[in-house]
Amino acid sequence: MSLDTEHFSAEELVNILSLSYNAIAIHKTEQLTIEFATDAMIQIWGKDKSVIGKSLEEALPELKGQPFIGMLQNVLRTGVTVEGTDTPADLMIDGKLQTFYFDFSYRAITNNTGETYCILHTATDVTERYKSRMARIASEMREKELNEELAAINEELIATNEELMTKNEDLISAFAELQKSENNLHLALESAKMGTWQSGFSDGLLHITDRTRVLHGIPKDKLITLEESFNMIVLEDRDRIRKAIESSIQTGEPFEEDYRINPMDGSSQKWLRANGKAYYDKDGKAVLVSGTIYDITEHKLDDIRKNDFIAMVSHELKTPLTSMKAYIQMLGVNAKKEGDGMLTPILTKADVQVNKMTTLINSFLNVSRLDAGKIHLDKTECRLDEIIRNTVQEIKVINHSHNIESLPCSPLNVFADCEKISQVITNLISNAVKYSPMGKRIEIDCRQQNNMALVSVKDEGIGISSVDIKNLFTRFYRAAGKHNDTVSGFGIGLYLSAEIIHGHGGEIWAESEVGKGSVFYFTLPLQG
Ligand code: ADP
Repeated sequence: MSLDTEHFSAEELVNILSLSYNAIAIHKTEQLTIEFATDAMIQIWGKDKSVIGKSLEEALPELKGQPFIGMLQNVLRTGVTVEGTDTPADLMIDGKLQTFYFDFSYRAITNNTGETYCILHTATDVTERYKSRMARIASEMREKELNEELAAINEELIATNEELMTKNEDLISAFAELQKSENNLHLALESAKMGTWQSGFSDGLLHITDRTRVLHGIPKDKLITLEESFNMIVLEDRDRIRKAIESSIQTGEPFEEDYRINPMDGSSQKWLRANGKAYYDKDGKAVLVSGTIYDITEHKLDDIRKNDFIAMVSHELKTPLTSMKAYIQMLGVNAKKEGDGMLTPILTKADVQVNKMTTLINSFLNVSRLDAGKIHLDKTECRLDEIIRNTVQEIKVINHSHNIESLPCSPLNVFADCEKISQVITNLISNAVKYSPMGKRIEIDCRQQNNMALVSVKDEGIGISSVDIKNLFTRFYRAAGKHNDTVSGFGIGLYLSAEIIHGHGGEIWAESEVGKGSVFYFTLPLQG
């Protein structure tokens, strides 16, 4: 059955229409007066029936500033229907301005002449649909982003993994290298009969290799601390070694010491040479000391035998030399008496040579005594300036080949073995003579520096290379060079000089330039 609208009055139609569940409104005139609105539309607006008959702007003042009123007026004017989906509109609901989304249409209703006389406004609230779509999009985007992020992390992981693998390979080959060099080290240590030791400060335990164990006669598997190991060192050497280790820990410098031990298994006394160095954590706290150790007994005994031999020979030579000197002097007196002009200078020369030999033999004797720790210093109060002046004068009497000059020196009081200090000055001047061309100047100077006396002997000779200069004061050391063949010497003068100066609490050193000359310095503490 078809519905014949002519049977309904306009009022009836409006009443029927107003029951629709759809949101429908009809606007008329330029003010968009609300002629009709279904309950659904009034509900969307958040208003009540009183809006009917009001202009749209009056009924929904919140639309001011939003595009809808303008759009509706445009529809009225142009007769062109407007539709929209998911269009946001801000509506005042429960006293709060809230955004809703709508699918809507503003449909122009025209009369017979084509004139728009009202607008049919329909709307569907799609806020929920819109929000859930947006949420889905957002979650899809987030998911995409996450996926991309994950992919990047994955790539990074792969790269890191590859890097780790190559690092691992590097590590393996470094480890192999390390093992190789450790093996080499072991071989080298073994062929040098060298042991190693290490002591950590946390437990004080001494970790030693088999060789070190054997050297000390320590039973297999016996644990030993560094402190306990000191008990094996002979009493005279013990403090020195302890101090050497302590100062090495403080300064970070390595140490090297020779000392004697009485091995734990009661075997005979040994001479050992230990090297070591401290290691520190990142806060600079010493955590362990470690080093090498080896047996130098044979070497030391050789040295001792050599010294004994030198001492014995020197001693044996002294008596005949003293007699020879006496004979030469007697001959000299006789020659003078008899007016033998030829013999006198020859005998004077012979006397000089005997004196040289006596000095040399005395030096040897001193060295061998030194080794036994027996250097004897006869200290008295003396004037260093006078010792220098007298020594230089004595040398000038017999030496005419060089221009030896002593610069003026103010009085300097020292408490020293005057004869030995004079011997040091003689040594330095005779070296300056030996290692400078004839006629060159040799200058001796002395002055006060803080509470020390500083003496220098300067020459214009061959000079000393930087390699040699470090070893000059070592026993039997002679600088390499052609002069060794022509200049006599044993390399003990400077060693002895250094021992004498150190015995007085002074220092001795040299500065030099090859081909230009050298300056030797020594200091002595001033008295008072
Ligand atoms: P030597 O008896 O050989 O002179 P020294 O102990 O007195 O022994 O000196 C050690 C070495 O130092 C010498 O062999 C020489 O090479 C070097 N030397 C010492 N003094 C000088 C100097 N004034 N000029 C150059 N070289 C020097």
